[in-house]
Amino acid sequence: MSSYETVIGLEVHVELATKSKIFCSCPTAFGKGANTQVCPVCLGFPGTLPVLNRRAVEYALKAALALNCRIPSFAKFDRKNYFYPDLPKAYQISQYDLPLAVEGYLEIGMEGKVKRIGITRVHLEEDAGKLIHSGYGDYSLADYNRTGVPLLEIVSEPDLRSPEEAKVYLEKLRSIIQYSGVSDVKMEEGSLRCDANISLRPAGSSAFGVRTEIKNMNSFKAVQRGLEYEVQRQGAALDAGRQVIQETRRWDEDRELTFPMRSKEEAHDYRYFPDPDLVPVIIDIDWVEAIRRSLPEMPDERRRRYVAELGLSEYDAAVLTASPSLADFFEAAAAACQEVKAAANWLMGDITRHLKAMGLEIRETKLTPSHLAELLKLQNEGTISGALAKTVLDEIFATGKRPGEIVSEKGLFQISDKAALGAIVDQIIAENPKSVDDYRGGKEKALGFLVGQVMRQSKGKANPELVNTLLRDRLG
Ligand SMILES: [Zn+2]
Repeated sequence: MSSYETVIGLEVHVELATKSKIFCSCPTAFGKGANTQVCPVCLGFPGTLPVLNRRAVEYALKAALALNCRIPSFAKFDRKNYFYPDLPKAYQISQYDLPLAVEGYLEIGMEGKVKRIGITRVHLEEDAGKLIHSGYGDYSLADYNRTGVPLLEIVSEPDLRSPEEAKVYLEKLRSIIQYSGVSDVKMEEGSLRCDANISLRPAGSSAFGVRTEIKNMNSFKAVQRGLEYEVQRQGAALDAGRQVIQETRRWDEDRELTFPMRSKEEAHDYRYFPDPDLVPVIIDIDWVEAIRRSLPEMPDERRRRYVAELGLSEYDAAVLTASPSLADFFEAAAAACQEVKAAANWLMGDITRHLKAMGLEIRETKLTPSHLAELLKLQNEGTISGALAKTVLDEIFATGKRPGEIVSEKGLFQISDKAALGAIVDQIIAENPKSVDDYRGGKEKALGFLVGQVMRQSKGKANPELVNTLLRDRLG
């Protein structure tokens, strides 16, 4: 393949976590029975009128400010007209030329460097319904519970230069939205959705190539893989002297490829016009400033504080601050036990492994910061070894019991009694004459093997340092 530069821009949709919909008072809870959260307004009955949800605007502004956007004082809503069964009104209330927020950015770390990715605009619109395509007959079912849920669209500048950068941008965006507290941004529940525009151009060229829009990438990994596929596909077409066609393509997760859905619409196809049922929105500057002040510490600030004040490495600080629930947990645990580095290591190691396996956020588990603090204390005092601490952690996740309680119930105390350990050490020495000879012959590694055997024999309860000393004494 010739040398091309990849140009990617992302359009991200985030469902705002308001209690009610954007233009009516229907609830927005996820996972309720089909068409149980609907009313004449969100079903688009004739004669009904939309009323803007103030909280939706507040949340949108909050996210926009967290993304360093400028907030113009005047915004309006427009109708985007298209005909599809997921849209009972046959138009979506959105924002066209005067969005709520413009000219923002966020920063991502790529290969140790900070790169700023521009955000063109952030606007507010209503979500459409959901179609459930029957696997049996030639029909589809429509669920309008989602119709009218407030949706934030965040459009980036075409500043991303690789599929990996796109994934990192998306993770950072999710982190910032999570911190601002306006959405739970769960890709698997559809509260975070991402479409991508991607094109290639000859390296060094400043003009943009023909782009395709990729849809249906339902996970962070899918975004990266879908874009990687598209880089290959477009590159091969250009190499062969063919033109890339401007179109919308769908990512097929199972077949690992994109395929054409429809030729790309232009804005004029939607016949945008100002919604005559809604008055324009005048944004009060004092309100904007009050919302700005209400923003909590953002991930970048928090990461810098962890490095400067807690002495963590850049990498550790970035991992721990990626989600606010993990960062809050870390701070609470570290404060409770004064063991900053140990708390960080447990969270990034064994605890993260558990969370990944369970597919949960830390706040959704039975583990609390005080559990972790107590566990670290037991380990520090020598009551339990590192190996036993892992067993205790498994048990906390399963039962939510206190670490001390688990240790006494299961008899997991570390054996630091010289006589008791001495007996096991003698037994292992007697059973492994070859390793004993090796050690005496100068093979230091053989000692490690013998320590391991003692640990095994004691079911992980032996104090490893003491085992080491006892073995050296006896073999010296
Ligand atoms: Zn409604």
